[in-house]
Amino acid sequence: CFITVEGTEGVGKTTNLDFIQQCLEQQGIDVVRTREPGGTPLAENIRELLLAPRDEPVSELTELLMMFAARAQHLKQVILPALDAGQWVLCDRFTDATYAYQGGGRGMDTRQISTLEQLVQADLRPDLTLLLDLPVKTGLARARARSTPDRFEAEKVNFFEAVRSHYLERARREPERFAVIDAEPALSQVQMQIKGALLRLGVR
Ligand code: C5P
Ligand code: MG
Repeated sequence: CFITVEGTEGVGKTTNLDFIQQCLEQQGIDVVRTREPGGTPLAENIRELLLAPRDEPVSELTELLMMFAARAQHLKQVILPALDAGQWVLCDRFTDATYAYQGGGRGMDTRQISTLEQLVQADLRPDLTLLLDLPVKTGLARARARSTPDRFEAEKVNFFEAVRSHYLERARREPERFAVIDAEPALSQVQMQIKGALLRLGVR
């Protein structure tokens, strides 16, 4: 199975990925945990290039192509071999982030995104996508308290509002793949919701 975790800044992806990994491993599932952009040495290099604040304006298309360049490498080296070997892949962000950030946040035409999705992934889609949802301001306050902002985190609130609404719209359109998790309450309540979503894959 291929599980992805999505959300805007500061929703608690890392903590909840740790929890999901534990839940799977307790069931004896062999899990490969990875992230995007990144997940291989080359793709991590592309990530660094993408995240570094810089003076030169970055063209939206350049950003999009770099996301998919990293993804193509990640799929070939990590995700597809793991799935072929019967392992489960747990990935911090995937193509839904591209639709939400480059489509929603940057305002790119989603047809360009789906063209690249088709080229890079063919028909591969996650089996389950957990969308951690939180009001943008709450998340940004959490994210900015922990580190200096990267090139994306330095964006304005309306950028992240667009990202959030695109995520939620995608979740509405594909309810069988998405589980929207309310990330606002106490961690124990967030984890209960995650447990409920994992039941869909037979994980108790
Ligand atoms: O998940 P994490 O916060 O580590 O991701 C790194 C950054 O990359 C985030 O700030 C996110 O906004 C950005 N990103 C993006 N488009 C993607 C994936 C990630 O803008 N497709
Ligand atoms: Mg971040």
